Amino acid sequence: MTDDISAAGRPQPEEAGRPDLRARYRQERAKRIRPDGTSQYIEPVGRFAYLTADPYTPRVERESVVEDVEVVIVGGGFAGLVTGARLAEAGVTDVRIVEAGGGLGGVWYRSRYPGAMCDTAAMVYLPLLEETGHVPSANVCGSMEILAHARRIAEKSTTAHCARPW
Ligand SMILES: Cc1cc2nc3c(=O)[nH]c(=O)nc-3n(C[C@H](O)[C@H](O)[C@H](O)COP(=O)(O)OP(=O)(O)OC[C@H]3O[C@@H](n4cnc5c(N)ncnc54)[C@H](O)[C@@H]3O)c2cc1C
Repeated sequence: MTDDISAAGRPQPEEAGRPDLRARYRQERAKRIRPDGTSQYIEPVGRFAYLTADPYTPRVERESVVEDVEVVIVGGGFAGLVTGARLAEAGVTDVRIVEAGGGLGGVWYRSRYPGAMCDTAAMVYLPLLEETGHVPSANVCGSMEILAHARRIAEKSTTAHCARPW
């Protein structure tokens, strides 16, 4: 282990702006970028088509929403929710999250099978814990608790248009 990394094995916040550390992050990122790009993924068609259906929210046709907003975020998983929350924090509140599913939470909206849980410690994995005042119930928590946390973030900081009401 080099001196880039703390004794705890993680870069410390004050180290994050260091050019040598940033170069290392870039190197690690480059290792994971494949030349086949998105073609590495299997299209959810044919026998996989059922994966695109939303088993939790019945589809309700509605008029298109036509709006003029400052920021549109596509996707209401943690990435979209946290972006919305950070924008709100910075004073940008004219934000819409557009979500294809029937609710927010991304993979945590969908992954509700028995035993589904995060494998990173919840105190590390769950975003915006201090801001929302939530304390995870366990070291790694179940998908329904994580989904509830995603909704907590959405309620506190964003507006969203899902494909269906939720
Ligand atoms: C069971 C499970 C356990 C996991 N555990 C961990 C863990 O312990 N630690 C960890 O770091 N990660 C874990 N992950 C990975 C997890 O995917 C990420 O941590 C994170 O939740 C991904 O968030 P995201 O917003 O990037 O993507 P997603 O959660 O996939 O959200 C993307 C959203 O965008 C929507 N969308 C996509 N395209 C469009 C479009 N064109 N129009 C509208 N909406 C669109 C999708 O419907 C989806 O809701 C786990 C994943 C699973 C399934």
